[in-house]
Amino acid sequence: MGKHLVLAGGGHAHMVTLANIRLLRDLGHQVTVIGPSEHHYYSGMGPGMLGATYEPKDIRFATKQLVEEQDGAFICDSIVGIDPEIRRLHLASGQAVDYDVVSFNTGSGIDLPKIVGDDATIYTVKPIERLYEARQQIKVQAEDHAVTIGVVGGGPAGAEVAGNLRQLVNKLKTTHPKTKISLFAGHRFMARFPEKVRSKSRQLLEENGVLIHEYGYLQSIKDNTLIFACGITEHADFIILATGVHPSPFFRQAGIAGGADGGLLVNRYLQSPHYPEIFGGGDCISFEPRPLDKVGVYAVRENPILFHNLKAYLQGEELIPFDPGGDYLLIFNLGNGQGVLRKKWLFWSGTLAFKIKDWIDKKFMARFQGGKQQG
Ligand SMILES: Cc1cc2nc3c(=O)[nH]c(=O)nc-3n(C[C@H](O)[C@H](O)[C@H](O)COP(=O)(O)OP(=O)(O)OC[C@H]3O[C@@H](n4cnc5c(N)ncnc54)[C@H](O)[C@@H]3O)c2cc1C
Repeated sequence: MGKHLVLAGGGHAHMVTLANIRLLRDLGHQVTVIGPSEHHYYSGMGPGMLGATYEPKDIRFATKQLVEEQDGAFICDSIVGIDPEIRRLHLASGQAVDYDVVSFNTGSGIDLPKIVGDDATIYTVKPIERLYEARQQIKVQAEDHAVTIGVVGGGPAGAEVAGNLRQLVNKLKTTHPKTKISLFAGHRFMARFPEKVRSKSRQLLEENGVLIHEYGYLQSIKDNTLIFACGITEHADFIILATGVHPSPFFRQAGIAGGADGGLLVNRYLQSPHYPEIFGGGDCISFEPRPLDKVGVYAVRENPILFHNLKAYLQGEELIPFDPGGDYLLIFNLGNGQGVLRKKWLFWSGTLAFKIKDWIDKKFMARFQGGKQQG
């Protein structure tokens, strides 16, 4: 008898499953996808969209359309709770959705500092679509007068956002010389990367006019003033938060979380060890065999395994394990056509690094935008 598969979030790890809904339907199963937006945005190109290298349509997937074309059901809503004992999801609208099998790919949210007062010009790098709102608002203001923009976060997301903001304001018809873009990079800019990567990224950003500060942790924001734990304060007209990420709290609330960040605990089959009908991939999981970095690379690598295992579980067939593989290629888009590339001992920077990233990202989009991907 057919079962009800629910895909909770249409993120990067669900791409292959989303493209194969028709196949699951033909096997007699019902498929429902739940997500807060009709589109899913590819984060790797998010900073480039902020810098106006790409438009929103270039970096998003039409999830609702893809699901409905294959006779799946799409619910535009957010999951806020799980009751694993009775196999039920609770949505923000108050609706409840029952499942036989569920797979989570709900990504991660940004850790917020304490915010007091006006927050109209505070943005987070997730969800990616908010970066477009920031771009539009910043353009209007920066064309009219000098603005100060503060990006908070010492990792690659902060660096990419700051560099692409510089590109955005440089491209404007009038760029006020006093417009300032500051990156507040925690205690140490790109601390977890090798010295070569750190110093080159820093040099490229600074040459492009980004000011980098290492004031330590941001404690709170009060009426557009950033207040750091060390006592330093800085005003910014626009604030973009690219601080640490964490999975949704509902995994912990449901007692199915693992690891320090409270992600959905999954074994090597990307399956909950406590509830075998629960699967997951991407940033929202805590992979039992070993912790995985929160990078899209793993979500993409999980795709075929997650699809195989969901189909196998629905059909009563054998599951296969996920092997995260070795080191991965990272390329940072630092704005103004400049990139930094790193894989194992390989290191490269400049326009060629950006061009390679642009080529890889566009290839990824073309592969999945049509929804023709096979398992
Ligand atoms: C600015 C930036 C740049 C990055 N660049 C790179 C890069 O170049 N390379 C790289 O490997 N990694 C990069 N990363 C990391 C990368 O974004 C993540 O690792 C990747 O997005 C994880 O994919 P995911 O599918 O798990 O999550 P997401 O991409 O966040 O997708 C989650 C999906 O679930 C939906 N969703 C969220 N909450 C709910 C809910 N409650 N209910 C239902 N649906 C929900 C969302 O709308 C979204 O569609 C970058 C991150 C940022 C912030």
